Amino acid sequence: MASLVDRYGRRFPYLRLSLIEACNFRCSYCLPQGYRPRPGLAPPLALAEIRRLIDGFARLGMSKVRLTGGEPSLRRDLGEIIAAIAAVPGVAKVALTSNGVLLQRRIADWHAAGLTHLNVSVDALDRARFAAITGHDRLPVVLDGIDRALALGLAAVKLNAVLLRGLNDDQLPAFLDYLRTRDVGLRFIELMQTGDNRAYFRRHHYRAEALERELQAQGWSLQPRAADAGPARDYAHPDYAGRIGIIAPYSRDFCAGCNRLRVTAGGDLRLCLFGNVGIPLRPLLQADAQAGELQAALTRQLGLKSAGHGLHRGETGLTPHLASLGG
Ligand code: SAM
Ligand code: SF4
Repeated sequence: MASLVDRYGRRFPYLRLSLIEACNFRCSYCLPQGYRPRPGLAPPLALAEIRRLIDGFARLGMSKVRLTGGEPSLRRDLGEIIAAIAAVPGVAKVALTSNGVLLQRRIADWHAAGLTHLNVSVDALDRARFAAITGHDRLPVVLDGIDRALALGLAAVKLNAVLLRGLNDDQLPAFLDYLRTRDVGLRFIELMQTGDNRAYFRRHHYRAEALERELQAQGWSLQPRAADAGPARDYAHPDYAGRIGIIAPYSRDFCAGCNRLRVTAGGDLRLCLFGNVGIPLRPLLQADAQAGELQAALTRQLGLKSAGHGLHRGETGLTPHLASLGG
């Protein structure tokens, strides 16, 4: 069987699929003015197109799909999408990254449809800070939604927090308190520069190394890296039920551990979050009979994936903001 391996020997069991570029939040680092449709943007892939896409990837060894956006829960057919993906042979994990606003109402349905993993973005545990960063005073509803997800017993529930100098760099004690009794993973993500946030990046970028030194001083220890792990550096502490992961895209080995491919809401394959090429797959998703053609295109394109991103050189590629690609 052909499989997804690039010329550097990296394997790609993990696909991040954006379901929609629109979002109902206005995170200051992502869509500070709120979502505005970009001219000429193709409509999001329809359910049948998504099913063919996932089937094509799964036949090449992909086993984990993360649904992201924009805000994926704005798709009314999210439950059907989850169910369709979960039914594709070879797909073992169906994950969702969401701002969490609709969890309270919908998580039970999504779980029943086959959702196994959930990441919720929570950049602060202080209500006013959360509102200031996201543009919406919805922290209580998000936290309640997370508790519901935990009660359902998904395979994993994680919180994502972007590290922001001057905006949430005082939140560590509150986050640690949260982790003391909850079996969740908290991932601190270093702010990434995108096409739209250059000035913001200069003001608020906060290096993950500083946080890691603080964690180590407080007794958190770096865990050995699992063979199939993503790019996070994981920390644990004997007194805490939760764990902490650090995602530092500017650190030296970040790209060496790359195990993921991305597809935009409109069906463009992106080999790298910050790459300069998008390969339109939609024309290959119009009929089941195109399956062979799709798989051939995917393996051919992977041969072109480069060793690493150009973020250190300020090259942000085609990505104006991460809502355009799902982070
Ligand atoms: N709307 C969903 C959410 O916020 O979870 C999914 C899409 S969002 C683009 C995916 C993740 O990317 C979120 O955890 C968000 O905080 C993160 N993100 C967005 N812009 C970022 C940036 N410039 N640097 C680092 N992380 C970013
Ligand atoms: Fe929306 Fe997620 Fe971007 Fe925030 S980070 S504006 S929730 S897409």
